[in-house]
Amino acid sequence: MMELYFEGMQSCYDAENVARMFFSPAHRATERPKRAPEYFTAVLGTRHLLCGVRRDGRCVWKRVKHDNQGTKADVFALCGLIYSFLCEQTGKRPPWGMLTGVRPVRIVHDMRRRGESEEAIERFFCDTYRAQPDKFRVARAIADVQAPIMRLSGPRSYSLYIGIPFCPSRCSYCSFVSKETAKSGKLIAPYLEKLELELEDIAETARRNRMQLETVYIGGGTPTAISARQLEHLMNKARSCFDWSGVREFTVEAGRPDCTDEEKLAVIKECGATRISINPQTMSDEVLRAIGRKHTAQDIVDCYETARRVGHTCINMDLIAGLPRDTLEGFRSSLSEVIALGPENITVHTLTLKRASTLVTEHAADEYGDVAAMVESCAEPLARAGYAPYYLYRQKGTLQNLENTGFAKPGTEGLYNVFIMEEVHTILSAGAGGSTKLVSPDGSRIERIFNHKYPLEYIERFDEVRRRKKGIDDFYGRYFDLDSEASR
Ligand code: SF4
Repeated sequence: MMELYFEGMQSCYDAENVARMFFSPAHRATERPKRAPEYFTAVLGTRHLLCGVRRDGRCVWKRVKHDNQGTKADVFALCGLIYSFLCEQTGKRPPWGMLTGVRPVRIVHDMRRRGESEEAIERFFCDTYRAQPDKFRVARAIADVQAPIMRLSGPRSYSLYIGIPFCPSRCSYCSFVSKETAKSGKLIAPYLEKLELELEDIAETARRNRMQLETVYIGGGTPTAISARQLEHLMNKARSCFDWSGVREFTVEAGRPDCTDEEKLAVIKECGATRISINPQTMSDEVLRAIGRKHTAQDIVDCYETARRVGHTCINMDLIAGLPRDTLEGFRSSLSEVIALGPENITVHTLTLKRASTLVTEHAADEYGDVAAMVESCAEPLARAGYAPYYLYRQKGTLQNLENTGFAKPGTEGLYNVFIMEEVHTILSAGAGGSTKLVSPDGSRIERIFNHKYPLEYIERFDEVRRRKKGIDDFYGRYFDLDSEASR
């Protein structure tokens, strides 16, 4: 395993992120040199910058003069050296260049807000950070689509996320907190009981702070892993305790066809969902088996047709590039099959390997197909079929540091996805693993409140969940004077 080590920096965070783009996400980073057969090292010295790599019994070093002033510019210079050195040594050229952040589109929004020219934004992407021009063009096009959506949000806007952390079986690439219903099904009823209490609390807090609910998203896990009656009860509860008058979008992840039947799809529709997600990930039965899914591609088609029959008019379908056993041809064929179904949205993810997933421990990196080519191959057929990219984000551990991109037919963009990705407004989250993100009215400050991760912990320590949520009042108390508003 390749070891990574860094010297001379107070924080090696940026340098490590650049180096990690060139090595498998499972490679370790350590701060103190030790004798490792394979390693990469980068040093910020007082008079020099240095990079070195030892692989296959061979060492290569590069050292350049640099007058260290102890500023961020020194670390940036080292990152530039790491990037060019590793491009030379590995033959890889990461499409986003040295941009390691998760929200490249945000950079376009921020620079435009500061009044910088389109040329300056392009130079920042393509010259300073060495991103490929086509990546810059995608980021700019997405920012254009998002601008009017972001203007829908006001200073008191928020969205609500409701988490159902249960699934019929665990996919091999999964790193989410999700429990299999066969093993943990007995937790569902007590979990939903607490979840509904938390929804009551959140609704009350939102009312008190005069917040405006814009979008609602029920995700997971797999929300359809619970019964039709439980789903109906939960959705009706949400509708009854929140002020629904301004809600623009209500999404439910219908996720997997192995637990999504006509009855559940009809309940979701009757309870007011305006958008659902049916996520094949691949349309290859062999790849579905390889990732541990217990359904076929035909089941996905049947589920999609049932959803249309019961009246769903906005459907998203997710695909993942880089799944084990998949090939470039196989991925293209999955994409064609999904396009042929005609969902309003198609989201193309790149496989992300996290330590919590079985794939990281059981599979070698070379089992993954040509991921970059898969991702590249999407744009043209999607554009031809009338889909345009509308949100994009990256995650740590994504294969080849690629991105996840949501495509939509114009006018069907998932608003929640834009609001959460671009941190436009507050997201109040209910349920295990929920992360509440509080965004100040001017967008300059963000604070988070985390719920307990696992369903059992959430149930047993629910009082603490309630206590932590009091932080929402504290946060808004800094921006709004509720007493004087009430007396007006
Ligand atoms: S359906 Fe999603 S949350 Fe559930 S196991 Fe698979 S990847 Fe994880």
